[in-house]
Amino acid sequence: MKLGIIRCMQTEDYCPGTTDFRVIREKTGAFEGITEDIEIIGFINCGGCPAKKSILRARELVKRGADTIAFASCIQKGTPIGYPCPFAKRMRELIVKDLGDGINILDYTH
Ligand code: SF4
Repeated sequence: MKLGIIRCMQTEDYCPGTTDFRVIREKTGAFEGITEDIEIIGFINCGGCPAKKSILRARELVKRGADTIAFASCIQKGTPIGYPCPFAKRMRELIVKDLGDGINILDYTH
């Protein structure tokens, strides 16, 4: 798996992504059962509210080899402060539409 991760820019002040890297390394959370090696292509943020830049950023991850885009848990689950992204649904729709069916999407990381 060649993985690109998109995280919430607002959450960066609370979280440096430690758990994301751990679950990837340990193949737990959203990565449970994955047997192939996981290569991290990029770990980026959404570009800030209202996430319009995330489409271009996701496109760049794919251009650089990502076959899977994961939305970090801060976006849809709101971890670690319990504040999910109000733009998550639209962001996901637009990214999926832009990238097409060939890209695997993970809606959370842990
Ligand atoms: S658009 Fe959502 S994911 Fe991006 S910074 Fe704002 S709240 Fe976070």
